[in-house]
Amino acid sequence: DGDLIQFGPQAVFRYSVADEGQEQLLRQLYEASVTDALTGANNREHFDSQLRMELSFARRHGTDLSLVMFDVDHFKRVNDTHGHPVGDEVLVEISKATRRLVRNEDVFARYGGEEFALILRGIALDGARVVGERLRERRADLAVQTDKGQLKVTVSVGCASFASTPEATAESMVQLADKRLYVAKRGGRNRVVADG
Ligand code: GH3
Ligand code: MG
Ligand code: MG
Repeated sequence: DGDLIQFGPQAVFRYSVADEGQEQLLRQLYEASVTDALTGANNREHFDSQLRMELSFARRHGTDLSLVMFDVDHFKRVNDTHGHPVGDEVLVEISKATRRLVRNEDVFARYGGEEFALILRGIALDGARVVGERLRERRADLAVQTDKGQLKVTVSVGCASFASTPEATAESMVQLADKRLYVAKRGGRNRVVADG
C-alpha cells in the first residue's frame, strides 16, 4: 500500500488499498467539493468546469448545447419582508423543484446568491426556451409556507445556445445568457428571453 510506480517522466501511479469506509469518505469529500451547501445544487466551480467540458464535447461532435440562467425576482424584498431564513428556504425549494424538472445528465448549479444556471446537453436554443418557459411557469406554482401566509416568487430567465453564439466560449455563453436575463428583468421580470 502506498507504493509508487513510475511510467516515463509524466505518469506516476500510486497503489493504494482502500476499504469501503475510506471509499465512502472519498466519495463524500468529492460530493461536498462540487455541491452548494445550502441548496444541494452544484456549485459555481463545478458549473464552470462542466461547461468547458460540455463545450469541447459539442465542438468535437457537432452537437448543440444550451445554457439557461435564471434569477429570482425581487428577492431582496423576500428577505426584507420575511427574514433571511425564509429567503434561504425559498432558494432550497426552487432548487428541489428545478432538479425534478430537468434530466439527470443536465448540470444544475447555483451560480451566485439567487441566480441559478442549467447546462442542457444536446439542446438547441428553441429547446432551451421551452425549458426556460417551463421553469418560469412552475416557479409561479411554487408556494413556500411562512407565518405571514403563502409566499410566491417569480423568476426571470435568459437562454443562450452554443450553435447560435458566435465563437462560443464558456465566458461568451454565460455573458450572452446573462445579458438576456437582464433584458428579461428590464422588460418587467417573470419572463424568458432567448434572443436579441
Ligand atoms: P431583481 O428582481 O432585479 O433580481 O431584484 P433582487 O431583489 O432579486 O436583486 P438584488 O440583487 O437587489 O438582491 C438579491 C438579494 O439576494 C440580496 C441578497 O441579500 C440576497 N441573497 C443572496 N444570497 C442569499 C442567500 O443565500 N440567502 C438569502 N436569504 N438571501 C440571499
Ligand atoms: Mg434577483
Ligand atoms: Mg441576482
